[in-house]
Amino acid sequence: MQSFWTELRQFITKDVKNESESKDLAVLIRFVAISTFLFILVGSIYFAFNGSYFHAIISLPFLGLYVFSFIISYENKTNFALLMYNYSTIVAAVLFTLIGGWDKNYQWMLFIVCLLIFFSVDTDIKVKRQHTEIIIIILIAISILSHLFGPYKTGNNIGNTIFALTCAGYYGFSVALIAYSFSKKFNASELKLKKYNQKLQQMASLDTLTQLANRRSMNEYLAQLVFEKEKKGDTFCIAIADIDFFKKVNDTYGHEAGDFILKESAKIFESTMEGRGKVSRWGGEEFLFCFEDLQIKQAYAVLDDMRNLVSQRKFIYKDTEINITITIGLEEYYHIYGVEGTISNADKKLYDGKTNGRNMVVM
Ligand code: GH3
Ligand code: MG
Ligand code: MG
Repeated sequence: MQSFWTELRQFITKDVKNESESKDLAVLIRFVAISTFLFILVGSIYFAFNGSYFHAIISLPFLGLYVFSFIISYENKTNFALLMYNYSTIVAAVLFTLIGGWDKNYQWMLFIVCLLIFFSVDTDIKVKRQHTEIIIIILIAISILSHLFGPYKTGNNIGNTIFALTCAGYYGFSVALIAYSFSKKFNASELKLKKYNQKLQQMASLDTLTQLANRRSMNEYLAQLVFEKEKKGDTFCIAIADIDFFKKVNDTYGHEAGDFILKESAKIFESTMEGRGKVSRWGGEEFLFCFEDLQIKQAYAVLDDMRNLVSQRKFIYKDTEINITITIGLEEYYHIYGVEGTISNADKKLYDGKTNGRNMVVM
């Protein structure tokens, strides 16, 4: 028994053949078509039992139309199936309300159509509004007509109860199904958008060549850090490193080799700063380091080890060995200097290092 339901579910939720069509919409139409088919079927049996054979007979073409909508939803004609379903349902709602009476609740099928129209993604919002207005006009018209001419009288209480239950089940199921289907879709697209935004934000804060933080995101980080540190009365250290004679690297080995050196040194810088703070590409061949919790002497030791590591490192680019050195200026943050003043002080120390022989950390 369970496998029957599983198979039935798999059959109804089968994907559409055409990739440009929405599987969700096709599945929704199938479910709604089945439930409407059953609703109309129960209604026609109910009316047949009450002697209204005319009602029972005019149900037949509608049953056919719902079967047809169901079938073509498998045939790459999802939008046509939706249109077919909507028009059949509008006509059915009008006819059955006029024949059966307002109290049989067929008129609310128009709301199911409204929901389907409103949630279909492909339709323009103006068209959706126009369709909804027309449907509401139809609803008012049949309300007036069915009240003017009086409902068709049906006897038998048990029959009434069963039919009322069918109505409640049908409307409850259809509304819940449509709401579920579309909220699933909206949630999914919202999640996609969120991820896309995160990716964009990440891209906007990274340097494309080295994948280190860029200047903009370093400035944001520093502003936040200053805020936190000043609250606690703490300080932190900033350093600027510049590759020595980098122009020569480009001139001797080519710009691509220069890029390679930038990327490889960025990896060394990043692993040095892991758990200690942040490093960013500040511009060209300059990198800005921020040590969140180290005293200036401790930061000096870390940077000097790093400088040493870089100077010992044999960078191999296309079988050619390239050696580089870096010069670093290190400064502690003080409120009176601010971030800009601290960076500018570090820069001066870097310049001192450059004029005093390079390959050193100046504190
Ligand atoms: P110094 O030791 O005084 O710093 O000398 P330097 O040659 O490193 O300094 P200079 O400012 O004269 O040259 C920096 C060079 O860095 C020039 C520029 O072409 C190169 N450069 C800047 N950005 C990039 C980049 O993204 N890729 C490559 N390959 N080179 C870059
Ligand atoms: Mg340089
Ligand atoms: Mg420079």
